[in-house]
Amino acid sequence: MASISRLPEYSDRWRHSLHWQPDAYQQASFQALYEAILEGNRQLNLTRLTAADDFWEKHVWDSLSGVVPWLGQEPTVQELALAPGHRVIDIGTGAGFPGLPVAIACPTWPITLLDSTRKKIAWLAGVSQDLGLTNVTTITERAETLGHHPDHRQAYDLALVRAVGSVATCAEYALPLLAQGGVAVLYRGQWTVAEQEQLQTVATRLGGHLIQLRPWRTPLSHSVRHCVYLLKDRDTPHTYPRAVGLPAKFPLASPDS
Ligand code: SAM
Repeated sequence: MASISRLPEYSDRWRHSLHWQPDAYQQASFQALYEAILEGNRQLNLTRLTAADDFWEKHVWDSLSGVVPWLGQEPTVQELALAPGHRVIDIGTGAGFPGLPVAIACPTWPITLLDSTRKKIAWLAGVSQDLGLTNVTTITERAETLGHHPDHRQAYDLALVRAVGSVATCAEYALPLLAQGGVAVLYRGQWTVAEQEQLQTVATRLGGHLIQLRPWRTPLSHSVRHCVYLLKDRDTPHTYPRAVGLPAKFPLASPDS
């Protein structure tokens, strides 16, 4: 039987890039998550990034890069301050990214993992339990539907969205779920002026605005990443999010939207 690789610790890389590093328990939890993903990949198409370095960089490190303003220290931008007892949602979590690494790194944050695929959510519920992540809850639903649910609309303080669609689509999923004062983190790769201009327009329509853009180079392959921070400062008009499918098919600010 093939032995399972150990995830690297890379303490220096954590410290130099994110000014944080996992403790022994968190490192063991990342290892357990890695093993669970390798096992889950036998039945579900969870990720193609199965080499230990790839998994560390593109799933674990990348997930935590978005929450660096809150890892271990006060945020440098005052508007990024989170309310005590803040609620977090990971929209379109897939195999649990960025939500599960964030739940491991920030065990006091209540985190909801949202995805429209029932099989993935069932798997995530089991893995969260196996990893002892009592701060995680899971929901199978479309973001467009949850955004109108009275228990969830304008109920979260932090919304994380990685690899779910265009910036306009992600903003339309995230901003309706945020309470005023809440922050959306959009995880992006390359970033263009055109995207930024589109996002400014769209965020205004949805009750928010862009407050910070953090460019990154990933620590191993030096790939380009950007984390985009939106502050929710007004109620979202009740017409958003639009009906299921429309935010992806006709992103806001497109000529048809
Ligand atoms: N965020 C994960 C990551 O970065 O690895 C998964 C990205 S995967 C490419 C996109 C995920 O978003 C899929 O699991 C899909 O089911 C989910 N998704 C897409 N549109 C959605 C929607 N409107 N509501 C909820 N989940 C959605």
